[in-house]
Amino acid sequence: MIVSPTASPADRAATIGTQIAAVGLALPGTLIQRHTRCGRSGCHCHADPPVLHGPYWQWTRKVHGKTITRLVPDDLVADYQHWLDNHRRLRELIAELEELTLAVADERSGRPDRRRRNR
Ligand SMILES: [Zn+2]
Repeated sequence: MIVSPTASPADRAATIGTQIAAVGLALPGTLIQRHTRCGRSGCHCHADPPVLHGPYWQWTRKVHGKTITRLVPDDLVADYQHWLDNHRRLRELIAELEELTLAVADERSGRPDRRRRNR
């Protein structure tokens, strides 16, 4: 759904709101693949050269500067990927809403808007 740039700010905000409502489940963070070493000495992961365990999927997210990680079962990887995509989409929509609001604020305070079109 593309909003016409000539639509009123209220209409565009409403459209963004509709798109946000349609996003569904959303998760921040990233999905990475990890190879690990276990604690058993004599395991192939401690051999030379080492054969590490994995790959395992891991979801990581930074909260207040601390990285939170969670092991993701293989059969949930597609779900996580989908939720991460949704969150990215959500952030784009929020950024769009913020930009729109700033443009309105500029207009109301009489600041020239670079993107204003000739009428
Ligand atoms: Zn091992």
